[in-house]
Amino acid sequence: MKRLLVYLALCLPVSAHAALNVFACEPEWAALAKEIGGDDVKIYSATTAFQDPHRIEARPSLIAQMRRAALVVCTGAELETGWLPVLLRDAGNAAVQPGRPGYFEATRFVPLLEKPARLDRAEGDVHAQGNPHIHTDPRNIARVGAALGARLAEIDPVHAADYRARGEAFAARWQTAIARWEIRAAPLRNQPVAVQHKSFSYLLAWLGLREVVTLEPKPGVEPSVGHLARVAAQLQTAPAKMVLRAVYQSPRPADWLSQRTGMPAVALPYTVGGSERANDLFGLFDDTLDRLLKAVP
Ligand SMILES: [Zn+2]
Repeated sequence: MKRLLVYLALCLPVSAHAALNVFACEPEWAALAKEIGGDDVKIYSATTAFQDPHRIEARPSLIAQMRRAALVVCTGAELETGWLPVLLRDAGNAAVQPGRPGYFEATRFVPLLEKPARLDRAEGDVHAQGNPHIHTDPRNIARVGAALGARLAEIDPVHAADYRARGEAFAARWQTAIARWEIRAAPLRNQPVAVQHKSFSYLLAWLGLREVVTLEPKPGVEPSVGHLARVAAQLQTAPAKMVLRAVYQSPRPADWLSQRTGMPAVALPYTVGGSERANDLFGLFDDTLDRLLKAVP
């Protein structure tokens, strides 16, 4: 009996605090799950801000992490089409398969921009269901956060009240931050910008920036020098204030165009971890706005 009590004393605190394993495909969803899940979740991010989320290798370490996950949080809309299905298949974890509560796709909770009128793979190898880079608009993060909080409560009902409380606290802080960002961003309204890849369509739509040209000839296709020369010529008649790229993208096309046209090339953190200041979701947007405003005198 004494032995059993000692055994229980050793085990109970551990099992009472067993955190829910969350596998996030991208750092923004890892950060959001951390805001809402707190100490009740243990989060693994499959990628960093310096990796191209369209092109990830389905490494054995990722498969091992997915095998022990209770919840998989990914973007969807075919962003991870080259690697997530392989992970789901090879991990063999029934709880996180599409259609199960353990599988969460952020794009399901947000209206997508740039839905193609007709599906034609010749238009490029990504974005066939609409633009998946939804997290660059903080209002989308609020939408996904509400859905993610409800999902965490469904999977882990013991901590449902904690997820609800943290979710409401985050939503309140986030709305305050959005109002602050929108005031700061007023000088950006209607400013023309060039983008390397359509990574920032939601950010631009939110702030009223105008995308006048995309450097990639098709989504996911690296521009040739000939194509960039045509873009430079186009910018002579319709100039832009800056050319934007995400830190994970090659600096060469934006830098080439910057040298040719004199407009600044601006690297945005794109997601959490993409710069020193972007160490959480709040820092991500603080830093993004600073970098945009610096390019618009
Ligand atoms: Zn993309």
